[in-house]
Amino acid sequence: RAKARGRARVELHDPDVVDPAVGRLRLIGELRRGIAEGELRVHYQPRMDLRGDRVAGVEALVRWQHPERGLLQPGDFIDVAEESGLVRRLGAWVLDSAVAQGAAWARTAGGGPTTEIAVNLSTRQLGDPDLVPLVAEVLDRHGLDPALLTLEVTETALMEDPDAAAATLRALKALGVTLAVDDFGTGYASLTYLQRFPLDELKIDRSFVAGLTESRGDAAIVATCVHLAHSLGLRAVAEGVETPDQRRALEDLDCDMAQGYHYARPLPVDELDRWCAAR
Ligand code: C2E
Ligand code: MG
Ligand code: MG
Ligand code: MG
Repeated sequence: RAKARGRARVELHDPDVVDPAVGRLRLIGELRRGIAEGELRVHYQPRMDLRGDRVAGVEALVRWQHPERGLLQPGDFIDVAEESGLVRRLGAWVLDSAVAQGAAWARTAGGGPTTEIAVNLSTRQLGDPDLVPLVAEVLDRHGLDPALLTLEVTETALMEDPDAAAATLRALKALGVTLAVDDFGTGYASLTYLQRFPLDELKIDRSFVAGLTESRGDAAIVATCVHLAHSLGLRAVAEGVETPDQRRALEDLDCDMAQGYHYARPLPVDELDRWCAAR
């Protein structure tokens, strides 16, 4: 057994060879260390205005430059961050980086097209009493116009405690930030609740966008989401746009914005700047 453990040590980083609970504990420890040692990165994915065909902003997406495992995606660690509570620290770091970057772009571009920044909030962050003062402090410290910051909250996070979520969103709204419901259509938000949240934007989940041009059902869902957004006075954003046909279909449906590999993958800042310059 000791020998087996000894052998397993060389394979520490293969999650399949360890007990999942042990792997999870180690991941928590590594993530705590990684955050403290500056291993997190933010990549930015452009979001396009479908009417003007211009960059309307970017979404900040966290990555973890793990010293042995390479660049990890949120799917590899965000659940563990959420369950362990580390997502508060992670989220505060991402918010700070993204707002600092947004303020830098606003300065160099003179309020140019890539300065709108979207940041994702997890369920636990939404329930954190320190969230509103944190957002206020970060915006103030970096001098970013609050209207240029969009906070994205999933439908699932909103429905965990809808009354508390509504109160938090009202407080965030009072700061002047833009609020989006992310992955719309995958949770169970009733229309009654949707109307009670002070939202500005509805992001249609990419699973529906993926089937847009092939499945009549998905096309109907996307069309309904766009109509719903517009009837509630929200802008409609499609995520996961991968093909020119999907983009054209979204234009025909009068969707406001789109984001996806068709335009660009999430990129580090220098690559995003080059991508923007090349357009
Ligand atoms: P999300 O907020 O819905 O972000 C969109 C995800 O779709 C991103 O995955 C993005 O890379 C991916 N994506 C964009 N365009 C396409 C496309 O055309 N095709 C496909 N197949 N995928 C596309 P990513 O970066 O792996 O992030 C996954 C999720 O992790 C995010 O989903 C978000 O819920 C969460 N996340 C990312 N960064 C953060 C963060 O800083 N804080 C928190 N709390 N959650 C985060
Ligand atoms: Mg998002
Ligand atoms: Mg999404
Ligand atoms: Mg998603």
